[in-house]
Formats: sequence, structure tokens, C-alpha cells
Amino acid sequence: MVLPLHVDSMLLKLPAEVVTRDQDIISSYLTDFRRQYVGATAALLRPRNTAEVQAIIRACAEHKIGVVPQGGNTSYCTAATPSADGQELLVSLERMNKVRELDPKNLSVTADAGVILSDLQQAADAAGLLLPLALGSQQSCRIGGNLSTNAGGINVIRYGMARDLVLGLEAVLPDGSLFRELNPLRKNNSGYDVKQLFIGAEGTLGIITSVSLKLVRKPRQTITAFLAVRDIASLVTILDAAQTQSGEAITSFEYISGTSLQLLLNADGRLRNPLEHESAHYVILEAATASPILNLEECISALLAELFESGLISDGTIAASELQRAVLWHLRENIPEAEIYHGGSVKHDIAVRTSRLAEFIESACQLVHSYRRGSILSVYGHVGDGNVHFNIVPPEGTDKAIFKRGVEEDISPEIYRLAFEMGGTFSAEYGIGRTKLNLLQRYGADGKIALMKRIKTAIDPHNLLNPGKVIP
Ligand SMILES: Cc1cc2nc3c(=O)[nH]c(=O)nc-3n(C[C@H](O)[C@H](O)[C@H](O)COP(=O)(O)OP(=O)(O)OC[C@H]3O[C@@H](n4cnc5c(N)ncnc54)[C@H](O)[C@@H]3O)c2cc1C
Repeated sequence: MVLPLHVDSMLLKLPAEVVTRDQDIISSYLTDFRRQYVGATAALLRPRNTAEVQAIIRACAEHKIGVVPQGGNTSYCTAATPSADGQELLVSLERMNKVRELDPKNLSVTADAGVILSDLQQAADAAGLLLPLALGSQQSCRIGGNLSTNAGGINVIRYGMARDLVLGLEAVLPDGSLFRELNPLRKNNSGYDVKQLFIGAEGTLGIITSVSLKLVRKPRQTITAFLAVRDIASLVTILDAAQTQSGEAITSFEYISGTSLQLLLNADGRLRNPLEHESAHYVILEAATASPILNLEECISALLAELFESGLISDGTIAASELQRAVLWHLRENIPEAEIYHGGSVKHDIAVRTSRLAEFIESACQLVHSYRRGSILSVYGHVGDGNVHFNIVPPEGTDKAIFKRGVEEDISPEIYRLAFEMGGTFSAEYGIGRTKLNLLQRYGADGKIALMKRIKTAIDPHNLLNPGKVIP
């Protein structure tokens, strides 16, 4: 790619090791995770420390060049991909991958933004602690990307979203200056809590370079159950019973529809249903406690006996080992891969209040079948948080691309309208990126976009950071 003169001279000011112009290397960073968009860039910049990020951003600001930050590039809404016109530079945080400090007595860890989430989990584990952020992409996504998307995942019900785990943050601002409030303090009311601005901003306000996060004591007892559930309406009753009975112990409550499980079993012949009989609805329920004294097993066994008796669940199994636990979670976490195997899906990342979840799922299913009978509905997700991934997979024998385009045109708007009318949201955890700008415009809260624009203009007046994302 021929570089405009000002970009070329700007790149020459940076340390040579930071700049990659080789398009063969760059190309693997340019396609979004869902393979829906291919960007272009003249150069990939891979800083090794905060000072290098500052040097890059200062140079870009001087020459008014747009910059796209990238972590693990697992965004589901094309948030980390530069535009196809090649006018923006790509900054990958992958070389900033050190755990800076782990303080076991303070239950905190401070790390570079480019540390892979599973590496950070392992660092906590090695210290006898737990980083309670966990999601299906954890082997690839990076902690800076997790905070920039305010990631959710499977433990939100107990520990909250990524935002709730943040104690401190360091970010390079669009003029190259530094915001640094990295001390891992649990109380700090010294002025506006400005670090929160960068969380969920998808790289539009600053480049996060380091974070301090809360850790918790590692559970000494964990119980993971895979349950066949009577119907969708029972989900909330079961959750309520589980939370009432176990106090704060429920860490995950994940729904898997029979269809989603079947897609996975079709895609991978080595896997099998852990229960004897098929069901239309399953739940993975996980409870954990760091207490060596509480009898969690007794508590969950009593709960399950009660649920059986009342007919809310018809079958169930409890993982007897760490390996069995991993197998159960594998079933939940590999549904997106199974959808890809069947030709991909049209995804809807919906949240409604938990009390209206069953109503949403049932109405949305009816809606799809009234438009396109025979559609495969892969419905699963973090229902304990009111969050359901309501995905539509093309049936066998259809042209996948044509089917998906049709669904996006006729069904998706209806699903979003339904969620909106029920007081829900079109984006529970994946964010806005490039692909949901129109939905934000249509369904964003009153006055929100105007306020977002004012904040963006105040911090990034030349629109240099991740242009074209998040702000319509
Ligand atoms: C199989 C699978 C399962 C998933 N499950 C979940 C889930 O359960 N919950 C959930 O919330 N998400 C989930 N996701 C979506 C995705 O993994 C998350 O959004 C994740 O947090 C993105 O992290 P990343 O490092 O890949 O970020 P990227 O995709 O690289 O970037 C995401 C956004 O953050 C910006 N960004 C990245 N790093 C920085 C930085 N250091 N400073 C400023 N901006 C930055 C990018 O510009 C972009 O806007 C899943 C994705 C996959 C593929």
C-alpha cells in the first residue's frame, strides 16, 4: 500500500520495532471475528509499553490520523477493525502483556492492557485467587478489550460486568497525554470517577494501557449441575429458588435450548448429551463458595430434590470432577462454533428484565416462525442476567447468505422492536462497534447520543480514536 506522505513521515518518527508495514503480516489483523468486514491499513503499530503508545498517539494527533485500538479482535460487532479505505492506523496491544503486580492481601492485580484474559486468570489462580471475569473467548481476548467492551460472560450474576471489577485504570488520551489512576483502591472519591468513561467506550475515548482489577478468594467448593428444565417459564422460578436457598453462592445460571445443544452435537460427533433423555430446555447452574465450613453440596442437593419434586426439572447431573465440569461448560461455550459449522447465524444479543425473559423468548420464537417457518432457533445465554443470545441459523438446503440477509431485513428489526417495547436492549454485552450504529440511533435512551457526542467532542475533538464506531 502506498503511504500518503504525511503518514510516511509520521511513521519514521516512531521506533522501527513498533511499526509493521508488511501487508502479509498485517492482513491477519484486518478481518473481524465474524468474517463480515475486511479493513485496510498502511501500518500496524505494536507498542511495547505506555510510553510507546503515547508516542504513537502524539504523532497521529499531530498529523490528524485516525487510530483503531485492537486487543484480541474477538468483537462480535466489528469494533476493532479499521475502515476499508486504509486511512486509519491499527494499534495492537498484544505486546503489552505483562502482569505488573499481584497483591494477594489487597485481592488485586495490575496488568498491561494486552494480557490475554485466560493468562490473567491463571496468574490469579497461581496466587490462590480468582479473577471472576470469564467468557467464551477468554483464550484470545485481552483485558484492555474486555474493559473497552465492558464484557459480561458467565459470572455476571454474582460478580457483575467487567466494569464492576475495575479498581484503577491507565489510558492514553487522543492528544497523547496520560490519564493514570491505577492504585488498586476500593474507596476513592477524589473527584469524578473518570476511569469509568473508558470502560465500554470501545476505544473511542482513549487507549487503555493498564488496569487494576479486583480478585476474590478462590472457591473451595464448586458445584456444577446440568439440568433439564420443564419450560422457559420455569427458568426464573428455578433461579429464584436457587438464589433463595444458597444465599450468594450462585455464580452462573446459563440457558441452553435443546436446539442449540443439538447443533453442537451435530457439529462435533465426539460430544454427547450428559442426560439420558433429550429436553427442549437445559440450564447450567453453578454455585461456589470460598468457605471451607458451609456445606454447599447439601444445600444444592436439597435444592435439586425440591426442583424435581415440584416438576420444574425432569433430569439433571452434577459434575463429579473438574474434568466433568469442563465438559459441561464446553457444551455451553462451543455453541457459537456450532452455529458457524451450520453456516453461521444472525445474532441478537438481547437483555430484558429477568422477570420478562420467558415472555420475550416465547414471543420472539412465535415471531420468527410466523415469518419463516423452519428457521432454526439457537437460543442460549446468560439468562440469570436477563441476557439471551437469540440466534437464527439457516435451515439445511437453503442458500445461507440469502437466508441470513432475508432474516436481517424482515425478522431482526421485529426482534429489536419487541425487546425495546418490553423495556429491553438490543445490545446486552457485545457493544455497538460498527454494526449496531443504526440500532443505537433507533433505540438509544433519550438524550444519550447527544450526551455521548458532547463527551466525545470534549475528549477527542478531531475524532481520531476509533472513528466510525459507537457514535452514529
Ligand atoms: C466465542 C466468543 C464468545 C464470546 N462471549 C462473550 C461473552 O460471554 N460476553 C461478552 O461480553 N462478550 C463475549 N464475546 C465478545 C468479545 O469476546 C468481547 O467483547 C471481548 O471483551 C473483546 O475483547 P478483545 O480483546 O477481543 O477486544 P477487541 O475485539 O480487540 O476490541 C473490542 C473493542 O475494544 C477496543 N479496544 C481493544 N483494546 C483496547 C484498549 N487497550 N484500549 C482501548 N480500546 C480497546 C477496540 O477498538 C474495539 O472497539 C465473545 C466473543 C466470542 C468470539
